[in-house]
Amino acid sequence: MNATATAPAPAASVPRRPRVHMAAFGCQMNVLDAEVVVGELLRRGYERAATEDAADVVLFHTCSVRQHAEDRVWSRLGALRRRKKLDPSLRIGVLGCMAQRDGRSILVRAPHVDVVCGTRMFPRIGELLDRTREGERVLAVDEVECLPPPRNLSARPDRHKAFVTVMRGCDHRCTFCIVPTVRGPEVSVPEDDVVAEVEALAGDGAVEVTLLGQNIDSYGRDLPGQPTLARLLRRCAAAPGLRRLRFITSHPGDVTEELLDTMGADPRLCPYLHMPAQSGSDPVLKRMARKYTAARYREIVAEARRRVPGIELASDWIVGFPGETEADFEASLGLLREVEFQTSYVFQYSTRPGTPATRLADDVPGEVKRDRNHRLLAAQTEISERRNRARAGEIAEVLVDGPSERDSSRLSGRTRENQVVVFPGPAAWRGTFRRVRVTGATAAALYGEAEGLAAGRG
Ligand code: SF4
Repeated sequence: MNATATAPAPAASVPRRPRVHMAAFGCQMNVLDAEVVVGELLRRGYERAATEDAADVVLFHTCSVRQHAEDRVWSRLGALRRRKKLDPSLRIGVLGCMAQRDGRSILVRAPHVDVVCGTRMFPRIGELLDRTREGERVLAVDEVECLPPPRNLSARPDRHKAFVTVMRGCDHRCTFCIVPTVRGPEVSVPEDDVVAEVEALAGDGAVEVTLLGQNIDSYGRDLPGQPTLARLLRRCAAAPGLRRLRFITSHPGDVTEELLDTMGADPRLCPYLHMPAQSGSDPVLKRMARKYTAARYREIVAEARRRVPGIELASDWIVGFPGETEADFEASLGLLREVEFQTSYVFQYSTRPGTPATRLADDVPGEVKRDRNHRLLAAQTEISERRNRARAGEIAEVLVDGPSERDSSRLSGRTRENQVVVFPGPAAWRGTFRRVRVTGATAAALYGEAEGLAAGRG
């Protein structure tokens, strides 16, 4: 009997799947858009690269709101120029607000960039990247909004929480803001689609969802029947399994009594309002075209506190806006001190190309802007520290996000009011609700000890 040895058949070579790395700059909506882009590319056969160096495709989802964010993108693109020379198969894409505003000039300034894709075209990034395979350099900056593909739930970075974009663009024309230029007019996602997405996320383990919109309080005005944000919140909050629902960002002129009453009536709706004041001076607010006065802002705050027990407020501020005098700045300081915000985000004004404020002289010296920035932050720090310390002994109900960024041996999470709480505990508590006894505080966080699992609604 002859034995025949059979050599193993040569393995068919399987082409390696392209690896994509994406970095998002700017707001939470950009982070979510980046998740959608990566989810779509995974669906099309890409793999996620852990680092930029390991990627065959590097994408930047950019922000134009501040110069600093743009500078960081240009610096990262500069660093990739050499790598592209050594490896011409590397593909590089610039997406989002910078792409929308600067379009072709990015391709001119950065000849190693393969794709420039604006704010309304990113859902088609897969097709655009296909076109670059043959060396085509693609510019896709369209006026027509492309609907994002159905969400790829497996691409979610956190199981316990999620973000959902409910509208894009803004119909306000605040003179310092590039959003209306790069994001266009308000376009709301149909109510049923938002509700279906929130239900799908809750079914996939998300216990906290944050609805996103540049000016979310005007949600629905462009939809048939004009559903309100309040109605949307009521429907989304009913998603089985969902325990917390948030929304950002609010324009003071669009906050309604219906919205506040809805927030006050349902414990699943978190008592937190990010409602930028920007300034406490009426002449400055007028030059910003914010469409409210400081007195009106105070009234809305009072109404919010009356209708939503325990509500916490956060504000953005611009210091050094054109023509801002010391008295104008003192008015901002006064408003901040009076309202006692939980958090203030302070920005020094810088001229953004494409905004109406470019017509105003940027006449506040840099050192004055820095000084005002410092004074506003110092006032907020004093308020936050005092209010947080007064909470010693309280029990906070915390949804655990994971290890604290500053001290990975401890856990960090947030209360319904969006207050950060840091405490010791095992990593396995990520995504669970805990009762934490507050033992200390800084301006930035409460510190404490876990007492057990929080029951009921977080
Ligand atoms: S409401 Fe907000 S997004 Fe709209 S223009 Fe003003 S600052 Fe920009």
